[in-house]
Amino acid sequence: MKIRGHHLFCLLHFEGKGYSQDFVENMYKVKEALENRGKFSLVLYCDDICKKCPYMENNECRKDVDNKLMYKDSEIVSRLGLSLEGELYDFAYVKSLIFKNFNRKDFEDLCKDCSWFSLCSEKGVFG
Ligand code: SF4
Ligand code: SF4
Repeated sequence: MKIRGHHLFCLLHFEGKGYSQDFVENMYKVKEALENRGKFSLVLYCDDICKKCPYMENNECRKDVDNKLMYKDSEIVSRLGLSLEGELYDFAYVKSLIFKNFNRKDFEDLCKDCSWFSLCSEKGVFG
């Protein structure tokens, strides 16, 4: 399975809402697979979550016109000290790294421009 960097944050905040019914059903499946110790590699482009998103076209995200999402992917992966592709990771391990390396302010800085920010923010995953 492939997961883009910023979707690690989205997975932590997911509570059944998303861009379409298909998207939500797929998100549940991906999250369940990861929580059942399914291994994944990290990418900076469309992943197993994007593939059911109405914004994915020709394997690219139509929302990311300014590459801000790709920047966020890259920033998160690099601050976790993890590698892109090739390396397979366990979600529980990566989750523990996320909570060691990011706090509430980091989440706000990285996610404040997202249309889901207020919903995710209320969840208080980062305190
Ligand atoms: S604010 Fe957006 S990018 Fe950040 S975790 Fe929520 S949905 Fe994902
Ligand atoms: S909006 Fe873009 S990055 Fe987010 S799931 Fe859809 S295609 Fe992927």
